[in-house]
Order: sequence, then C-alpha cells, then structure tokens
Amino acid sequence: MQPKALLIALLLVCAWNWIRGIDGDVGEFLIGVGSYDMTGPAAHVNMMGYGNLDQNSAGIHFRLRARTFIVAHQNQGPRFVFVNLDACMASQLITIKVLERLKSRFGNLYTQENVAISGIHSHAGPGGYLQYLLYSATSLGFVRQSFDVIVNAIEQSIIQAHNNVKPGSIFINKGEVKDAGINRSPSAYLLNPAEERARYSSNVDTEMTLLKFVDASTGKSVGMFNWFATHGTSMSRNNKLISGDNKGAASRLFEDWFASSSSSSNTNSTSPPDIEKLVEKAKTIKATGGKACEKQSSQASKVRKKEGDLFVGAFCQSNVGDVTPNVLGAFCIDSGQPCDFNRSSCHGNDQLCVGRGPGYPDEILSTKIIGERQFKTAVDLFTSASEKLSGDIDYRHVYLNFTNIEVKLEGNKVVKTCPAAVGAGFAAGTTDGPGVFGFQQGDTEINPLWKNLRDVLKMQPSQYQVECQKPKPVLMSAGEMFDPYAWAPAILPIQILRLGKLIILSVPGEFTTMSGRRLREAVLETLISNGNGEFNNETHVVIAGLTNTYSQYIATFEEYEQQRYEAASTLYGPHTLSAYIQEFKKLAQAMAKGEGITGPGPSPPDLSSVQISLLPGPLGDSIPDKTRFGDIKEDRALPGRGYFTKGERVSATFWSGNPRNDLLTEGTFSAVERLEGERWISVYDDDDLSLFFKWKLDSSSFHLNGLATIEWEIPNDVVSGVYRLRHFGSSKETIVSATQYFTGASSAFAVVRQ
Ligand code: ZN
Repeated sequence: MQPKALLIALLLVCAWNWIRGIDGDVGEFLIGVGSYDMTGPAAHVNMMGYGNLDQNSAGIHFRLRARTFIVAHQNQGPRFVFVNLDACMASQLITIKVLERLKSRFGNLYTQENVAISGIHSHAGPGGYLQYLLYSATSLGFVRQSFDVIVNAIEQSIIQAHNNVKPGSIFINKGEVKDAGINRSPSAYLLNPAEERARYSSNVDTEMTLLKFVDASTGKSVGMFNWFATHGTSMSRNNKLISGDNKGAASRLFEDWFASSSSSSNTNSTSPPDIEKLVEKAKTIKATGGKACEKQSSQASKVRKKEGDLFVGAFCQSNVGDVTPNVLGAFCIDSGQPCDFNRSSCHGNDQLCVGRGPGYPDEILSTKIIGERQFKTAVDLFTSASEKLSGDIDYRHVYLNFTNIEVKLEGNKVVKTCPAAVGAGFAAGTTDGPGVFGFQQGDTEINPLWKNLRDVLKMQPSQYQVECQKPKPVLMSAGEMFDPYAWAPAILPIQILRLGKLIILSVPGEFTTMSGRRLREAVLETLISNGNGEFNNETHVVIAGLTNTYSQYIATFEEYEQQRYEAASTLYGPHTLSAYIQEFKKLAQAMAKGEGITGPGPSPPDLSSVQISLLPGPLGDSIPDKTRFGDIKEDRALPGRGYFTKGERVSATFWSGNPRNDLLTEGTFSAVERLEGERWISVYDDDDLSLFFKWKLDSSSFHLNGLATIEWEIPNDVVSGVYRLRHFGSSKETIVSATQYFTGASSAFAVVRQ
C-alpha cells in the first residue's frame, strides 16, 4: 500500500471509530438519563429531617430535582433504574405508588426488583410524604402536595430516561473528597475493635465513586452519578428555604459547569461597558405593575437547557450515618468551647452544642463550600475517567420483616432483631440539629418526667421489647404502636444492583461509617467466594443510602453500646447490622451463583387510605386595596453610584399569592432578566444559587397579605448590562376559586462587572 493510501485508510478508520463512539466500540450498554423538577410547597409546610415544628418552608433557595439513569444490556438484556431524589430520604409509599404507575405504563419492565429510588438526605425539603407516623408527626401528618410532586417527578424522569435509552459506554472512577465530612459521633466510633479501626486511616469514608455515561453515537457525555457519604445538614434546623443542601448544590454546579464547558457561545464581551449609557438606559424603565399572564412553565427550563442536549449530574448519598458536613467541629454556643466529647452537650444541656460548617455562621456559604468540594472531586474524576465498565447487569431484591429476624452470629449463637424503637438519645438530636431539652446523646436511662409522660400517653414498651432493645432505653416503642396507624416500618426492602464490576447496595437507612464498611466487605467476600472467578478484588461495592424506604440508622453492635443518636435511632435492636449483613449475603450468594431468591418476601403495607392530614390548605389570597397581584411593594434600592456590581445584593418585594396555589413545576417564581436590544431575556431563575425567592404573609396587616421577595446576589461572572427582577405567581380568591396567574417586574438597574 502506498503511504498516501495508508494515511487515508488510517484516517477513515479513525473517523469510523469516532462515529461509532470513543474507543471505537458501539457501546457496551444501553443508557438513558432523565431529570424532572420535584420542588414541593414553598410555604407553611414543615421541612423533613430535623423534626423541628418551627421549621416551615418560606421560599426557595434552589429547586429540587429527581435525576434518573437507566442501564440495560444490548438487545433486551436485563436493565435497572436508579433515581436520585433531592429529598431527605426515600419513602415506602412513594416507592409503592411509583411502581404502580410504572406497571400501568411499562408492564413488567420496571418492578420493585430493578428500580432503586434514593434520597440525598437534604434537610431542607418539604415533608409529609412518608407513611409512617413517626416521620410525619411534625408535618401534622400527610401532605398531599409534597407527596404528589415527588411521585410525579420520579415518574417523569424515568419516562424521559426510558425514552432516550441509546447505546453508550460507562466509565468508572474513584477518588478522595477532602474536608467534606467529619465523624459527629467519634466516641461511638472508638468503641469498634482497635484492630478493625487500624485498617482505616480515617473515622469517615472519604472515597467518591463516580460513573460517567457517554453516548456511543455522538461521543458526548450524557450523565454523571456519584456516591459519597456526608449529611445534608449544611443548612440548619432554622432554615426556611427549600434547598438541596450540599449535594443539591453540587449537582447544580456540575450541570452548569458541564453546560458552560461544552458551550461554544461566548457571552462575555471583551470591550468595557459604557457605564453611563447603561445607567441612563436603566433609568428610563420603570417597574411593571402586576398583570395577568399565562401560566409560565418554560422559563426555568429555557435557561437551564439553553446549551442544548440534556445532561444529568447527580450526587448520591452513601453510608452517611455518623458523617457531618459541619467540618469545623461542634462548639458550645454560650462559651465557644468544644462540647463534651462523649455526650455532645454543654454542661449537661444538649441544645447548646452545635456543629459549624466551613462558612460558619453563614449556612448558605457552608452549603456552597461543601457542595463545591464534592463538585471539584467529581469534575476531576469525570474528566480523567478512563476505565470502561463491561460485564453483566443484574439485580436481586427482597422484602424482610425486620421485627424478628433470626440472626446466626459467629459460634452459632442465634439472636433476634426487635420491633422498631427509638431510645432516649434519639430525642437529644445531634450536633447538626439539637433535639429536645432534657435529653443527651448517650443516655442509657430516660429522665422520670419523660418516662411518666410516655406512660400517661400509653406509649410504654412491652417487657419483651425492653429486654430485646437493651442497652437502649426505649423512649418510644414505635414498632408496637399502631394507633391510628403504624408509627414505624416493620417490613424493609434490601436490594443489590450490579453494573459490571460495580455493585450497588440499596439500603433503607443511614449506615454509620463502620457499619457500611462491614456490609460492603461481607458482600464482596460472598460474591468472590461463590462466583467462579467472576468477582474478584477489583469488584467495587458502594452503598446507596436512604433507598426505597426509610428506617433511620444502622450502628454497629459496639456503637450501639454507647447509645448516641445513631445508636438510639437504630430501630431493630443491637443486632440490626448483623441482620442486614446476613440477609445481604443471601442476595449476594444468589447473584454470584446466578440463582433466584426463595421469594419476594412480605409486602410492605400501603397506608395511603388511612393517612391523617391536619395541615390546612391555603384559604385564598388577599392583597391591599387598589393593588394587583404582582405589584411592587418595595422596589429595588439603587446604591449612590447609580449601578450595582458583583457581590452586591439586589432585592424587590411584590404583593403575591400563596406558592402552594401552584408549585410552578419546571417553572420559576423568580427571575433575573437582562435587556438585549428591546427584549428582556431570562438569565437567572429559581434554580440558580445566586437567586433567592422568599415568601411570607405580611403580619403588619390584619388581612395577612402575601409578600414575595426576590433577592439576587450578583455573581462574579455576571455580564454587564441593564437588568430587572421579575416575579411569577398565582393567586386564588377563595379555596374554590380558579387559579389566576400573574407577573410583575422591578424597575430596571444597571450592573457593571468590574
Ligand atoms: Zn441523618
């Protein structure tokens, strides 16, 4: 062959390989990704996580999303779905309802076996979507709107992922995340055997495991999912704004980074702006009074998807039990001294000991910093990922009644799990969010006042339960309480998903660091010893925390002795972890041997028909006489120099309707618009970390008129120009009236990037 012909042939091969996808194959797997808005009611709904009656939603920092990937083998092979929710945790009732919808839409393609729904553990989302009473008490029972928006978002994101399933490749990478978590119960961790602890360099897991999804036909990345353990408690128990906390922020940063790095357009003009011209132009544009409009639903997604193709980036939770993002440590708020090491209290008071995030005392900043630390590791792992996954897709799932599992310990001693119960340390809360006065972490007795109260309320545990749960002092025997319906779960799902060498363990709770390590190790050993060489030390196991349902914490047997918060919240007694390990080993063995399991196990109850909802709905909106919804109450204030610059905060307040009238799903309540020629274009919205939507009732008037404040913290990369703040909302005159949509805008203002 002549050199020239050889060159042409080589070029042709290269081009062909490029067309077929990177590394020259057609993609080992079929891959689909999806994403959908699941932001719940932004007013008057108790937030899930801290159990704080006073923490009710009053606006949005940024919107919450359900993010999904589907993987399948080529040619109708096995497939599974993984959904990551910007929610505190998965919910049994949500899982049940989603599976029902998937069945009616897709038949038997997606079932309990191969669908995993996982929560990121943000403590800043609206609650009331779990069916067991212990988890809906502070939200005054079931909140239909919180529930429906999540079910719908999961379904929509799965449909989207299903519809865009295409051949592709999956890359795996692992790396360390620095300073995004510390152990919040180090004294309990120290109770684990010294030789076991000696095998690890830290009392938290710092590894992030990342998957990168690449479309075979275009060679373009379509998604990134990773697992890393740290609590979603950067936002405090006093926060009122809906937020995905540090993991939600990391997703926002990653998706925006991907969009901007793959974008060819360059909006930054190189010539310096004519400041005077901008200021003069802005002066001519007054606030727009409130006016009726069509329901806007594309505003947010327009901004977000401006770069074209869908890309989904998700930060998933792992064995998070004892890991806090408040990495500066816990201090007494009165003295500034470190808290008591064993009890996390300050001279006996649990309420004074509070953990500090890296942005302390600014929790929004802490959220961003912990989000950025995960985001940066993810970018490194994503850009350097070179190990391609291959091999089988497989899954095993079983439901277990955790109230009485017989567990065979070493030496053939048989013990049992117990009905669910929480101990006194549960009421003490944690350094991320102190609980009730009169309790401390590590309590092995209940103070007489609370004991009497418990007994008056007829909540005393059975003698069997008292013995079974020892040394936990049973504060509330939730597993023995069924009035008016079950207070805690008895039946829990466990699941193993396999994607080549990656093994994902879906666990329905928060494993502590050491619990997670023991479970991963037990599963890996079982796979290797039963798998005919198919599994080896390269097989990589991750824990997907808070998945499919929720049952609080899982501490080790040794940690359980100390009865700190995590142990006091380990529902099924001292052998809870041993039961998980035993049952996961059965699933792992079945998977390794290519066998089925003996049965699906008992079905969890659907308690939807008996849920109690005591939270009243919005009663109808009012505004002062001679105003319209969307009218400005307080226009933006201009600084003396006549324009704003980066780092400054602009805000405007509008007469508004209750955001519960319409959640504006896939839309936005707030927007920042920039004047381009004679047109206003939306450049920031509810999804942006720089834009805040705050809602409240104006308590200064008898009528309790609704007020929406839009606040914009001008980001460093802002483009100089003429801007305004815009509000979208809806109103209802009375409960039965039709919903009306409205909008309003502030006066224009100049922004100069200096
Ligand atoms: Zn937690």
